[in-house]
Amino acid sequence: MVRGLERYEAINRNKAVAKFQLAKRLEAERGDFETHEKYKKEFQKFLEEEGENVRILDNDPPEYSFLDLKIDLLMEMLKSCNFCERRCGVNRYEKLGYCKTGVESYYSSEFLHFGEEPELVPSHTIFFNRCTFSCVFCQNYDIVYDDDYKVDPKELAVMIDIRRRQGSRNVNFVGGNPDQHAHTILKILREVKSNIPVVWNSNMYHSWELGRIIEDVVDVWLGDFKYGNNECAKKYSNVKNYWEVVTRNFLEAKKTGELLIRHLVMPNHIECCTAKIVKWVSENLGRDVRFNLMFQYYPTFRAYEFEEISRRLSWEEMRRAKELAEKYLDNLV
Ligand code: SF4
Repeated sequence: MVRGLERYEAINRNKAVAKFQLAKRLEAERGDFETHEKYKKEFQKFLEEEGENVRILDNDPPEYSFLDLKIDLLMEMLKSCNFCERRCGVNRYEKLGYCKTGVESYYSSEFLHFGEEPELVPSHTIFFNRCTFSCVFCQNYDIVYDDDYKVDPKELAVMIDIRRRQGSRNVNFVGGNPDQHAHTILKILREVKSNIPVVWNSNMYHSWELGRIIEDVVDVWLGDFKYGNNECAKKYSNVKNYWEVVTRNFLEAKKTGELLIRHLVMPNHIECCTAKIVKWVSENLGRDVRFNLMFQYYPTFRAYEFEEISRRLSWEEMRRAKELAEKYLDNLV
């Protein structure tokens, strides 16, 4: 049993119900964000009372559910998009914002991934196109700057059920980044029949409003913690207020789901980023949080334009990063 992921593992033993399956079975009325806030309280109670009652999966969903309400709100939010903290405010029915995603969603591939953390594999990973960041060292740039296959929510839902029968331990929404596709992802989940944990594999830069909506369907937040300060975030990913947004979202994620944090160690960024991150995580999320210190950075895409990150890590940097992580954290992958 992996500390911090007990509920995730209970779903996989069919001893607990994935949150989206519960959200689909809580009857709701149509309404606005305030209505949704009201139903959130009911959902909390529902989760406490029915969260381990797997027989609830035999019940047909009501005509209109809490999950339907979430989808309707997201479809409305697209008219002035604030899915992420860039808050472009564009009408995505008519034009594209920074992430270049409209109303339709596109994905690049879906498969059983064996290269994720041990507790996640095999992970049914769905790589969506596009991203809300523009990291100069992007390791998935072939996915991010193109649209490949248009998502049909019903078809992808069937794939999720098929992959579950093939042994997947979760459905892992990634990219790029999943946030800008939240409306599509919830539509997919509405059609999924399996009791399967949902992993939200993101840069944690979602807006507060989006967080309020998706947190009731996310079982595990697989969050990237990239930078220890706003200057590095602005320089390499072109985002503002990175530290404030991401720390707020990690604190919320800890309250509402289970957490697995990834930190990609970068050359010349041990003291300004790695050290700050592991210390903050330890003091604010606990020494026990599951944490993956990743050493697989390699310069790619536009990283060569920045001399300080245009090489792999040195042994000394890896040693120092490991020393810092072990000083502050007890549950390293
Ligand atoms: S998801 Fe973020 S980047 Fe994309 S249009 Fe909305 S606010 Fe802009």
